[in-house]
Amino acid sequence: MQANTAGAVIRALWGQQCARLPRIAEKAHELGWSFPVPFLCECSHIHCFARVELTLEAYDELRAHRQRYLTAPRRHEVAGAFVIEQEETFAFAEKLHAGD
Ligand SMILES: [Zn+2]
Repeated sequence: MQANTAGAVIRALWGQQCARLPRIAEKAHELGWSFPVPFLCECSHIHCFARVELTLEAYDELRAHRQRYLTAPRRHEVAGAFVIEQEETFAFAEKLHAGD
């Protein structure tokens, strides 16, 4: 597989996974999970598949702000965003303007 093709496949899979995240959270709510739920890092690195665990309450708080992203801690940057919270197991980044 050529590099361009592999990159396109990874981006397509990544897009599918990102689309599933809200459904994962919905299902976890439906099942009444109270323990941390695994999500994928939302950093800008297309080859990153880091897993980040977050409680549903923290995930809901994150999703209440469209311009915020969930990432693994340290060196998992989102282009054009600033880290607003850094914990041992996750970080939140925020863009100043939505849609950037
Ligand atoms: Zn990452």
